[in-house]
Amino acid sequence: MQPQNDKRMRLSSLLSIFYPSVCPMCGVYSKGLCDACFRSLPRTEQAQIRQNETEMVLTENKPDIVRAMNQMRLRQAAAFLFYAKDHAIQHLIHRMKYADEPDIGFHMGRMAAIEMQYTDFFDEIDVIIPLPLHPKRLRERGYNQSEYIARGISDITGIPVDTTHVTRIKNTPKQALQTGEGRKQNVADAFAVNHPEQLYNKQIMVVDDLITTGETMRSCLRAMRCIRGAHYTVFALCKAK
Ligand SMILES: [Zn+2]
Repeated sequence: MQPQNDKRMRLSSLLSIFYPSVCPMCGVYSKGLCDACFRSLPRTEQAQIRQNETEMVLTENKPDIVRAMNQMRLRQAAAFLFYAKDHAIQHLIHRMKYADEPDIGFHMGRMAAIEMQYTDFFDEIDVIIPLPLHPKRLRERGYNQSEYIARGISDITGIPVDTTHVTRIKNTPKQALQTGEGRKQNVADAFAVNHPEQLYNKQIMVVDDLITTGETMRSCLRAMRCIRGAHYTVFALCKAK
Protein backbone atom coordinates (compact mmCIF):
# COMPACT_ATOMS: atom_id res chain seq x y z
CA MET A 1 0.00 0.00 0.00
CA GLN A 2 1.47 3.27 -1.10
CA PRO A 3 -1.28 5.86 -0.96
CA GLN A 4 1.34 8.58 -0.90
CA ASN A 5 2.75 7.43 -4.23
CA ASP A 6 -0.64 6.96 -5.80
CA LYS A 7 -1.56 10.46 -4.80
CA ARG A 8 1.64 11.77 -6.27
CA MET A 9 1.06 9.84 -9.49
CA ARG A 10 -2.45 11.20 -9.83
CA LEU A 11 -1.17 14.68 -9.17
CA SER A 12 1.53 14.14 -11.74
CA SER A 13 -1.01 13.04 -14.38
CA LEU A 14 -3.21 15.98 -13.52
CA LEU A 15 -0.33 18.41 -13.69
CA SER A 16 0.79 17.11 -17.05
CA ILE A 17 -2.48 18.31 -18.56
CA PHE A 18 -1.69 21.87 -17.56
CA TYR A 19 2.09 21.74 -17.34
CA PRO A 20 3.56 19.38 -19.90
CA SER A 21 7.07 20.08 -18.54
CA VAL A 22 6.96 17.92 -15.43
CA CYS A 23 9.16 15.00 -14.43
CA PRO A 24 7.32 11.82 -15.56
CA MET A 25 8.36 10.06 -12.33
CA CYS A 26 7.78 12.51 -9.48
CA GLY A 27 5.78 15.29 -11.09
CA VAL A 28 8.05 18.19 -10.13
CA TYR A 29 8.45 20.97 -12.64
CA SER A 30 11.22 19.80 -14.95
CA LYS A 31 11.93 19.55 -18.64
CA GLY A 32 11.83 15.75 -18.85
CA LEU A 33 13.02 13.42 -16.12
CA CYS A 34 14.32 15.42 -13.14
CA ASP A 35 17.93 14.94 -11.98
CA ALA A 36 17.01 13.30 -8.67
CA CYS A 37 14.76 10.70 -10.31
CA PHE A 38 17.25 10.05 -13.09
CA ARG A 39 20.04 9.44 -10.56
CA SER A 40 17.79 7.05 -8.61
CA LEU A 41 17.35 4.62 -11.54
CA PRO A 42 19.41 1.41 -11.06
CA ARG A 43 22.40 1.33 -13.48
CA THR A 44 23.76 -2.00 -14.73
CA GLU A 45 27.27 -0.67 -15.58
CA GLN A 46 27.29 -3.42 -18.25
CA ALA A 47 28.90 -1.29 -20.96
CA GLN A 48 32.29 -2.00 -19.40
CA ILE A 49 31.62 -5.60 -18.36
CA ARG A 50 31.91 -8.43 -20.84
CA GLN A 51 30.03 -11.70 -20.27
CA ASN A 52 27.51 -9.59 -18.39
CA GLU A 53 23.92 -10.63 -17.66
CA THR A 54 22.57 -9.25 -20.94
CA GLU A 55 25.20 -11.15 -22.95
CA MET A 56 24.41 -14.27 -20.93
CA VAL A 57 20.67 -14.08 -21.55
CA LEU A 58 21.14 -13.37 -25.27
CA THR A 59 23.37 -16.47 -25.58
CA GLU A 60 20.85 -18.50 -23.57
CA ASN A 61 23.36 -19.06 -20.74
CA LYS A 62 25.54 -21.33 -22.88
CA PRO A 63 28.63 -22.41 -20.93
CA ASP A 64 31.02 -21.21 -23.66
CA ILE A 65 29.73 -17.66 -23.98
CA VAL A 66 32.62 -16.46 -26.15
CA ARG A 67 31.94 -19.15 -28.73
CA ALA A 68 28.17 -18.52 -28.57
CA MET A 69 28.69 -14.80 -29.14
CA ASN A 70 31.08 -15.45 -32.02
CA GLN A 71 28.48 -17.69 -33.67
CA MET A 72 25.93 -14.89 -33.40
CA ARG A 73 28.56 -12.37 -34.58
CA LEU A 74 27.70 -10.51 -31.39
CA ARG A 75 30.57 -8.29 -30.27
CA GLN A 76 28.99 -7.00 -27.09
CA ALA A 77 25.67 -6.31 -25.43
CA ALA A 78 24.62 -4.12 -22.56
CA ALA A 79 21.56 -2.72 -20.89
CA PHE A 80 21.65 0.72 -19.32
CA LEU A 81 19.24 0.11 -16.43
CA PHE A 82 17.81 -2.79 -14.49
CA TYR A 83 14.08 -3.15 -14.85
CA ALA A 84 12.08 -4.37 -11.90
CA LYS A 85 8.34 -4.59 -11.46
CA ASP A 86 6.89 -2.24 -8.87
CA HIS A 87 9.90 0.02 -9.21
CA ALA A 88 9.61 3.54 -10.63
CA ILE A 89 11.30 2.29 -13.80
CA GLN A 90 8.23 0.16 -14.61
CA HIS A 91 6.01 3.22 -14.48
CA LEU A 92 8.43 5.16 -16.65
CA ILE A 93 8.73 2.44 -19.32
CA HIS A 94 4.96 1.99 -19.33
CA ARG A 95 4.45 5.69 -20.00
CA MET A 96 7.06 5.62 -22.75
CA LYS A 97 5.41 2.67 -24.51
CA TYR A 98 1.71 2.99 -23.90
CA ALA A 99 0.91 6.52 -22.79
CA ASP A 100 1.98 8.39 -25.90
CA GLU A 101 5.15 9.75 -24.29
CA PRO A 102 7.91 8.60 -26.64
CA ASP A 103 10.05 11.62 -25.70
CA ILE A 104 10.90 9.70 -22.51
CA GLY A 105 12.72 7.24 -24.80
CA PHE A 106 14.62 9.99 -26.60
CA HIS A 107 15.66 11.54 -23.31
CA MET A 108 16.73 8.20 -21.78
CA GLY A 109 18.67 7.29 -24.93
CA ARG A 110 20.55 10.59 -24.67
CA MET A 111 21.27 10.13 -20.98
CA ALA A 112 22.49 6.55 -21.52
CA ALA A 113 24.81 7.69 -24.32
CA ILE A 114 26.18 10.54 -22.20
CA GLU A 115 27.10 8.10 -19.41
CA MET A 116 28.39 5.41 -21.75
CA GLN A 117 30.40 7.59 -24.10
CA TYR A 118 33.37 7.36 -21.73
CA THR A 119 33.51 3.62 -22.38
CA ASP A 120 34.44 2.06 -25.75
CA PHE A 121 30.89 0.70 -26.19
CA PHE A 122 29.97 2.87 -29.19
CA ASP A 123 33.41 2.71 -30.83
CA GLU A 124 33.42 1.64 -34.49
CA ILE A 125 29.63 1.33 -34.75
CA ASP A 126 28.50 2.39 -38.24
CA VAL A 127 24.75 2.38 -37.86
CA ILE A 128 22.03 2.08 -35.20
CA ILE A 129 18.97 -0.06 -36.00
CA PRO A 130 16.02 0.10 -33.60
CA LEU A 131 14.13 -3.18 -33.23
CA PRO A 132 11.20 -2.59 -35.57
CA LEU A 133 7.52 -2.89 -34.69
CA HIS A 134 5.08 -4.55 -37.07
CA PRO A 135 3.42 -1.86 -39.26
CA LYS A 136 0.04 -2.63 -37.69
CA ARG A 137 1.41 -2.18 -34.15
CA LEU A 138 3.22 0.96 -35.29
CA ARG A 139 -0.06 2.42 -36.61
CA GLU A 140 -1.87 1.61 -33.37
CA ARG A 141 0.82 3.10 -31.14
CA GLY A 142 1.82 5.90 -33.45
CA TYR A 143 5.54 5.51 -32.77
CA ASN A 144 8.29 2.97 -32.14
CA GLN A 145 9.73 3.60 -28.65
CA SER A 146 12.99 1.85 -29.60
CA GLU A 147 13.44 4.31 -32.47
CA TYR A 148 13.16 7.19 -29.99
CA ILE A 149 15.81 5.58 -27.79
CA ALA A 150 18.02 5.06 -30.87
CA ARG A 151 17.58 8.69 -31.90
CA GLY A 152 18.53 9.83 -28.41
CA ILE A 153 21.77 7.81 -28.61
CA SER A 154 22.40 9.14 -32.10
CA ASP A 155 21.93 12.71 -30.87
CA ILE A 156 24.93 12.27 -28.55
CA THR A 157 27.15 9.89 -30.56
CA GLY A 158 26.44 11.15 -34.09
CA ILE A 159 25.96 7.55 -35.30
CA PRO A 160 23.16 7.45 -37.90
CA VAL A 161 19.85 5.62 -37.32
CA ASP A 162 18.50 3.27 -39.98
CA THR A 163 14.82 2.26 -39.95
CA THR A 164 14.50 1.00 -43.50
CA HIS A 165 16.53 -2.23 -43.77
CA VAL A 166 15.09 -4.35 -40.99
CA THR A 167 11.34 -4.88 -40.83
CA ARG A 168 8.93 -6.88 -38.72
CA ILE A 169 6.88 -9.15 -40.94
CA LYS A 170 4.94 -11.05 -38.28
CA ASN A 171 2.58 -9.28 -35.91
CA THR A 172 3.09 -11.26 -32.73
CA PRO A 173 0.90 -11.15 -29.64
CA LYS A 174 2.29 -9.22 -26.67
CA GLN A 175 5.42 -10.96 -25.37
CA ALA A 176 4.41 -10.27 -21.79
CA LEU A 177 1.53 -12.71 -22.14
CA GLN A 178 3.66 -15.51 -23.53
CA THR A 179 5.92 -17.99 -21.78
CA GLY A 180 8.61 -20.48 -22.73
CA GLU A 181 8.14 -22.36 -25.99
CA GLY A 182 5.08 -20.29 -26.94
CA ARG A 183 7.24 -17.23 -26.75
CA LYS A 184 9.91 -18.82 -28.93
CA GLN A 185 7.40 -19.91 -31.60
CA ASN A 186 5.82 -16.51 -31.39
CA VAL A 187 8.82 -14.53 -32.59
CA ALA A 188 10.38 -17.14 -34.91
CA ASP A 189 10.87 -15.63 -38.37
CA ALA A 190 9.30 -12.38 -37.22
CA PHE A 191 11.91 -10.17 -38.95
CA ALA A 192 13.22 -9.63 -42.46
CA VAL A 193 16.08 -7.64 -43.97
CA ASN A 194 15.67 -5.60 -47.15
CA HIS A 195 18.74 -5.00 -49.30
CA PRO A 196 21.19 -6.74 -46.95
CA GLU A 197 24.02 -5.97 -49.41
CA GLN A 198 23.80 -2.30 -48.37
CA LEU A 199 24.85 -3.32 -44.85
CA TYR A 200 27.68 -5.73 -45.76
CA ASN A 201 30.61 -5.59 -43.32
CA LYS A 202 28.99 -2.95 -41.12
CA GLN A 203 29.17 -2.78 -37.35
CA ILE A 204 25.50 -2.58 -36.44
CA MET A 205 24.02 -1.68 -33.07
CA VAL A 206 20.50 -3.04 -32.53
CA VAL A 207 18.45 -1.13 -29.95
CA ASP A 208 15.52 -2.38 -27.87
CA ASP A 209 13.69 -0.93 -24.89
CA LEU A 210 13.58 -4.01 -22.65
CA ILE A 211 15.28 -7.41 -22.75
CA THR A 212 13.57 -10.16 -20.79
CA THR A 213 14.23 -13.63 -22.27
CA GLY A 214 16.13 -12.20 -25.24
CA GLU A 215 13.98 -14.24 -27.65
CA THR A 216 12.84 -11.27 -29.74
CA MET A 217 16.37 -9.91 -30.06
CA ARG A 218 17.75 -13.36 -30.98
CA SER A 219 15.08 -13.67 -33.65
CA CYS A 220 16.09 -10.30 -35.10
CA LEU A 221 19.80 -11.21 -35.03
CA ARG A 222 18.96 -14.52 -36.77
CA ALA A 223 17.20 -12.64 -39.56
CA MET A 224 20.25 -10.36 -39.87
CA ARG A 225 22.58 -13.32 -40.52
CA CYS A 226 22.01 -12.68 -44.23
CA ILE A 227 24.06 -9.48 -43.90
CA ARG A 228 27.47 -10.73 -44.94
CA GLY A 229 30.42 -9.71 -42.75
CA ALA A 230 28.31 -7.61 -40.37
CA HIS A 231 28.91 -7.67 -36.62
CA TYR A 232 26.43 -6.73 -33.93
CA THR A 233 26.25 -4.82 -30.72
CA VAL A 234 23.05 -4.91 -28.70
CA PHE A 235 21.89 -2.01 -26.58
CA ALA A 236 18.82 -2.28 -24.37
CA LEU A 237 17.51 0.57 -22.29
CA CYS A 238 16.54 -1.99 -19.62
CA LYS A 239 17.26 -5.55 -18.68
CA ALA A 240 14.65 -7.36 -16.59
CA LYS A 241 16.07 -8.65 -13.31
ZN1 LIG B 1 11.50 13.47 -10.72
